Amino acid sequence: MDNVNPATGKVYSQIPRSGAADLTMAVNAAERAFPIWSGMSVNERSAILLRLAAGIEARMEEFVVAESRDNGKPEKLAAHVDIPRAVSNFHFFATAIEHFSSESHYMEHVGINFTTRRPIGIVGCISPWNLPLYLFSWKIAPALAAGNCVIAKPSEITPYTASLLGDIANEAGMPAGVLNILHGTGPEIGNEIVSHPKIKAISFTGGTATGQHIAGIAAPMFKKLSLELGGKNPTVVFPDVDIKQTVKEVFRSSFSNQGQICLCGSRIFVHQDIYEAFKTAFVDWVSSAKVSYPADPNAQIGAVVSKGHMEKILGYIALAKEEGGRVLTGGARVRLEAPYQDGYYLAPTVIEGLSNTCRTNQEEIFGPVVSILPFSEESEVLAMANGTKYGLAASVWTKDLNVAHRMADRLEMGIVWVNSWLIRDLRTPFGGMKDSGVGREGGWEALRFFTEPKNIFIKYE
Ligand code: NAD
Repeated sequence: MDNVNPATGKVYSQIPRSGAADLTMAVNAAERAFPIWSGMSVNERSAILLRLAAGIEARMEEFVVAESRDNGKPEKLAAHVDIPRAVSNFHFFATAIEHFSSESHYMEHVGINFTTRRPIGIVGCISPWNLPLYLFSWKIAPALAAGNCVIAKPSEITPYTASLLGDIANEAGMPAGVLNILHGTGPEIGNEIVSHPKIKAISFTGGTATGQHIAGIAAPMFKKLSLELGGKNPTVVFPDVDIKQTVKEVFRSSFSNQGQICLCGSRIFVHQDIYEAFKTAFVDWVSSAKVSYPADPNAQIGAVVSKGHMEKILGYIALAKEEGGRVLTGGARVRLEAPYQDGYYLAPTVIEGLSNTCRTNQEEIFGPVVSILPFSEESEVLAMANGTKYGLAASVWTKDLNVAHRMADRLEMGIVWVNSWLIRDLRTPFGGMKDSGVGREGGWEALRFFTEPKNIFIKYE
C-alpha cells in the first residue's frame, strides 16, 4: 500500500497489506513465545523493556523525523511530545510491573483468599494515526510488561515508527514472537485481529463507530475489551480569568497537533461578561499562528493527516456555514510554496453563532476547527458541556475554587483539567464516559486490564 507524506501530498513509501495468512503466522509465533515471555522473571522482562525505551531514545532524531513525515505534524511537536512520551511509556510500565501486586482477603477463623494476576496470553492492540507511536506504545508497553504476547496494528496512515519499533525490539533482545507488528487496513487485518479466537483481549483506540463495530465482534466472543474512542470536548472559560494567559492556553488545547488529539477542546464556552474581549484576543492569536511545513522550527500548525481527512474537515466548515455559523478566522486550505504546495494544510478556524445542538457542535471534526459560544449561568454551561453523546475530557478555566470543584464534579467526562490542559501523569486513569469509550488505560488500570485475576481460597482446619 502507498504511504503518503501529508506535508507534500506525495507517496514516499510502501507498506505491507497484511491479511489472514500473516495473522496466522503471527499468532503461531506468539503461541510459541508465550511460555518463554510469561515464564521470565519480572526483572528480566523489565530489563528488555527498559532497553527498548533506551533504544528509541538513542535514535530520537530519526523517530522524530519519521513521525512527522508520516503524520504532517511539526517536528518540534514530535520532538517534545510524541517520541519522548513513547520512551516514557516503556520506561513507566517496565518499572510499574516491578511494583504491581495483588490482594489477599483474610476471613477470620475460616481461611484466606489471595488473588493472582497472570498474563492473559495473546492480546491485540490497535491504534490510530494522530499520535502514532505515543498511543501504540501506550498499549503495547503494559501488555508486554504484564507478560502477554502482542499482535499489534498501527494505523495504515502512519505506520513508519511502528516499523522502526520492531527493529528496536529485536535489538533489545525481545524473544521472537513476543511482539508481532502487522501493517494493513482496518477492515482487513484489523478485523482479522479482532475476530481471531486465540486473541483474548483487544485494546483499541480510534473512532467511536469503529469501536462499536469491534465491540460487536469481540463481545459475543467474550474477549476483554478496552475502547478509547472519540470526543467533543468542552473548554469552559469563566469571567475571572486572566484573558491574555488563558487565550494562549486555549489556543494550545484547541489546535495542538492540528486539533487532531482526542482531548482537544472543540467547543469553547466563554462567559458573556468577557465574551467579546476573549473572542477578539483569541481570534487575533489564532489568526497569527504560523501554518508551515513540519521541519520549519517556527511551525505552529502543520499538515492534517490525509487528503480524505482534510476534505472531511472542509466539509464540516461548509456545514457550519449552512447551520448559520460565521467564520471569524481561517476556514480554508492553505497553499504553501513548493515543494509543499500539494500538502494538506488548513488555516486554524474559529466559528461563532452556532447552537450547541447543531451537527457542527455535536459531531467530532478532529481538526483545527473550534466553535465559540457565550454563556451566562454555570448551570447553563454545564448542561451544554454535557450535552453531547461523548464524555472524554473537559478543561475549566477559573480562579474560583468553588466553581472549579462544582464543575469538575458535575462534568460527565473521564478527565477534567482545571486551569490546564493535557498535563498527564501516567499513573492516572485515562479514558472516557458515554460514547467516548469503555474502560480506562494508564497505571494499574492498564496492568489490571492485561492480566486475568484468579481468586484462591485456602480453608483453615
Ligand atoms: P479509526 O477508528 O478509523 O482507526 C483506528 C485504528 O483502527 C486504525 O489502526 C484502523 O486501521 C483500525 N480499524 C479501522 N477499522 C477497523 C475494523 N473494522 N476492525 C479493526 N480495526 C479497524 O480512527 P482514526 O481515524 O485512525 O483515529 C481518529 C479517532 O481516534 C478519533 O475519533 C479520535 O477521537 C480517536 N482517538 C481517541 C483517543 C482516546 O484515547 N480516546 C485517542 C486518540 C484518538
